[in-house]
Amino acid sequence: MPAKTFYLETFGCQMNAHDSEKVSGTLLEKGYTRVETPEEAGLVLYNTCSIRDKAEQKVYHRLQQFRREAGRGKIFGVLGCVAQQEGEKIFERAPHVSLVAGSASYTRLPEMLVELEAGSRRVTGLSLETEETFDTPFARRDNPHRAYITIIEGCDKSCSYCVVPFTRGPERSRSSASVLEEAARLAASGYTDLQLLGQNVNSYRDPSPAGWDFATLLARVAETPGIRRVRFTTSHPRDFVKAIVEAIDDHPVLCDHVHLPVQSGSDRVLERMQRLYTRSEYMCRIEWMKNARRSLAITTDIIVGFPGETGEDFEQTLALLDEVEYDSLFSFKYSPRPNTAAMAMADPVPEEEKTARLATLVEKQRAIQMRKNSALVGSVQEVMVEGRNQAGQWIGRTSQNRVLNFMGGSPAMGAYLPVRVMRAGPNSLAGEAT
Ligand code: SF4
Repeated sequence: MPAKTFYLETFGCQMNAHDSEKVSGTLLEKGYTRVETPEEAGLVLYNTCSIRDKAEQKVYHRLQQFRREAGRGKIFGVLGCVAQQEGEKIFERAPHVSLVAGSASYTRLPEMLVELEAGSRRVTGLSLETEETFDTPFARRDNPHRAYITIIEGCDKSCSYCVVPFTRGPERSRSSASVLEEAARLAASGYTDLQLLGQNVNSYRDPSPAGWDFATLLARVAETPGIRRVRFTTSHPRDFVKAIVEAIDDHPVLCDHVHLPVQSGSDRVLERMQRLYTRSEYMCRIEWMKNARRSLAITTDIIVGFPGETGEDFEQTLALLDEVEYDSLFSFKYSPRPNTAAMAMADPVPEEEKTARLATLVEKQRAIQMRKNSALVGSVQEVMVEGRNQAGQWIGRTSQNRVLNFMGGSPAMGAYLPVRVMRAGPNSLAGEAT
């Protein structure tokens, strides 16, 4: 087995994907080489997600495939949310694993690597007691044009269905100076599209004396010379303030898109979810966005079949879809997770009912998206070129985060150009370069 080679597979959300970029950069900096398959690697890492049971089972399945490699010099490590949640239990279920570390311990990764290299059989990083964020100048970014910047890690909310406060620990914000410095460095290396990341970016609070809030930071990042687009995710409705919409109004570099997870349209369910806002408070935020100077795309997340969700509650969610007319949404069937308050809640919704509700929701949203996308036919949209599809079309993305596939021209990857929308589908647009 070649020494100092690693394979890293990532599951889950954008935060995990970007953590993996930072983990890769740290390993490369320490003299490791990345390889494409676990078979070729001396160190095999899985950066895991525990938001749903399925994602967790997938990791154990992967580990089982390599059980026989134990003792043959290959080192296995589990990172991320499953590592934090399961802790040392992972060693029982998969005895060939040597490293178990949650994201709050990644700052200790270089030390943990030294221990592993020195032959330690079991190394753990499971403490959640940290005030630090995982900052590294060595992140090995996967995309040459769009870069992610973590501005806040962890979460201080306690939504009753969510494992994140348990797996990622309490909120820690980065200093505004280090965020701006990273944005400037990225711009200088050719990135034009930035995405600010955090479990709840709205509760960003600059720990330095400047004490900026999220809206101030957003505006300042948008002023970075060379940056053409800035997005942010994820927002919590309770902390989403009007100043964020005002920053978008004032800075065209801030994309015409806000993702604001609602989870349910029923106050009763929102209360059981401990989401800390009512439907009418949420709608007040939607009104701010609908009154913005530019037309903002609004997207959301919805959970169907939360314990105790009645047919009437679900109808209220469907009515909310009509009221807001989301541009896109992610919908999920509720799945109970360990260490969450909802796990102990009575009144589970039967699986087949959850499936039926999800299908109804998806169908309704599809019709809304079809209608909204059709209204764009004939318009000219600026896209950033992201690639080429199998049909030979260029793949572009609009500021509203719509995929606009198009023909014509020979643009470079990462270029920005105007495209006329000729056709619309529920999930994408098609057009021609003007
Ligand atoms: S805001 Fe709620 S859903 Fe989001 S990460 Fe925190 S606890 Fe989870």
